[in-house]
Amino acid sequence: MSDTMTGEALDILGELGIRPTSEGACWGEWIASPGEDVLSSHSPNDGGEIGKVRLASAAAYEEVLRRAGEAFEKWRTWPAPRRGEVIRCLGNELRKLKKPLGALVSLEMGKIRSEGEGEVQEMIDMADFAVGLSRQLYGLTMQSERPGHRMYEQWHPLGVVGVITAFNFPVAVWAWNAMIAAVCGDTTIFKPSHRTPLTGIAVQNVCNRVMDEHDCRGVFNLLIGSRANVGDPLVNDRRVPLISATGSCRMGRAIGAGVAKRLGRTILELGGNNAIIVTPDADLDMALRGILFGAVGTAGQRCTTTRRIFLHESIAAGFIDRLKKAYSSIRIGDPLEDGMLMGPLVDEDAVTECVNALEVIRRQGGEILYGGNRLPGNGCFVEPTLVMAHTGMAITKDETFAPILYIFEYSDLEDAIRAQNDVDQGLSSSIFTKSFHAAETFLSARGSDCGIANVNIGTSGAEIGGAFGGEKDTGGGREAGSDAWKGYMRRQTCTLNWSTEMPLAQGVEFDVS
Ligand code: NAD
Repeated sequence: MSDTMTGEALDILGELGIRPTSEGACWGEWIASPGEDVLSSHSPNDGGEIGKVRLASAAAYEEVLRRAGEAFEKWRTWPAPRRGEVIRCLGNELRKLKKPLGALVSLEMGKIRSEGEGEVQEMIDMADFAVGLSRQLYGLTMQSERPGHRMYEQWHPLGVVGVITAFNFPVAVWAWNAMIAAVCGDTTIFKPSHRTPLTGIAVQNVCNRVMDEHDCRGVFNLLIGSRANVGDPLVNDRRVPLISATGSCRMGRAIGAGVAKRLGRTILELGGNNAIIVTPDADLDMALRGILFGAVGTAGQRCTTTRRIFLHESIAAGFIDRLKKAYSSIRIGDPLEDGMLMGPLVDEDAVTECVNALEVIRRQGGEILYGGNRLPGNGCFVEPTLVMAHTGMAITKDETFAPILYIFEYSDLEDAIRAQNDVDQGLSSSIFTKSFHAAETFLSARGSDCGIANVNIGTSGAEIGGAFGGEKDTGGGREAGSDAWKGYMRRQTCTLNWSTEMPLAQGVEFDVS
């Protein structure tokens, strides 16, 4: 750990069982990978080193896969409510650790303290949801067309599930997948982002304690390693029937193709380019709050971040003035300090991507109305930026993972909806309106083409009870609530003939005389 670490940071690491150099492979026991490279994790707030992780070797990969497979053989035989009991205890453990784990998320990833703790709250909510679900993994019964026959479907566990996650939700996305997969009877292998390895280690430490209490090591596992030792093998491994991958569209294309080649399953949760439409009659105070949190929250590094707004021409000028004023009062700084609304970007690469995008924006004719600069100092801080955009700007069709908001004016609602849909991604979308007609048009089949469509709520901050995910290049996956659990199980259609006859379906006759 770095000498620059403050007392609070050291307390956080100690409470979460993070050693100065942690191992990158675990199945309940940590596996050493001697001679492998060491990954340093730095705080984006000041560039100081927080800790180190030794990357998993190829041998450690094999060991984790074997143990996760063995654990599955046992875990799948446990009644689902008993599996739910383990998740209930995991949720309780997370309740106790909400503050330090949330603070570690802030320290390593850079989101403000309340958002870091909010992420842990999401894990707790997912645990509660999964416990209830463990008694509700329902199948349907169907009416058989043949007399004396019963037909129904049942759901079985799938096997070992790979959970590859992005840096921006280093713990919540794991929970969306792992909590549900666990009550479904699967075991999981968590491969966190290289940008946030320590939060992955902290989560595994919590799991280890709870698994040991319930004699079920190997249900939750961790691998942090190179593409050669971990990333590629996991994608290509036929012992892993499902890969749930969250990250950029580029990553989704690579992983989607790799898993499809072996006819495995994927759940892909990829990039967004989310928009809000504001109609002339909207409550503008509500719209302002929704846009501000959507565009600036998490320093613009949410998959659901508001990246584009469409303002009706009759309200645009006044609303833009209010936005500029609100932007100028945002406190930017140490994410763990009280009162901050925006922390740093995750690392120097993210700052470079932001600065490069700002150059392209200027070249393509965007007018910077507010911000547009990197902030001085060692930290990865940028100004939140407002851009008056036009539809000819190609960059507005891309997801730049930074707090850059493109503003468009519109005169006709149908045109605004068409423009909001005219991007490759299809994650989250919103309309602020008091008009019943406008709201229903937006939600209709010719309205938003996104996986998430909100009225008088911003694009950011989905509740776990719904199925979360997006269409088009966002990948089509669904996670968390509703019936997303079905993605982690295999469906079996069962037909029982309890009669003494042998009729064929569709009335087919096949008798020998
Ligand atoms: P990223 O694509 O760089 O990495 C995501 C994860 O994939 C990391 O763990 C990375 O190591 C791994 N990875 C990348 N290429 C791989 C490969 N070929 N094989 C195996 N693993 C591979 O994304 P990021 O920068 O960490 O996160 C930001 C992106 O994630 C944004 O595009 C954001 O919109 C998206 N995201 C989407 C959702 C969603 O639910 N739709 C949620 C969070 C983030």
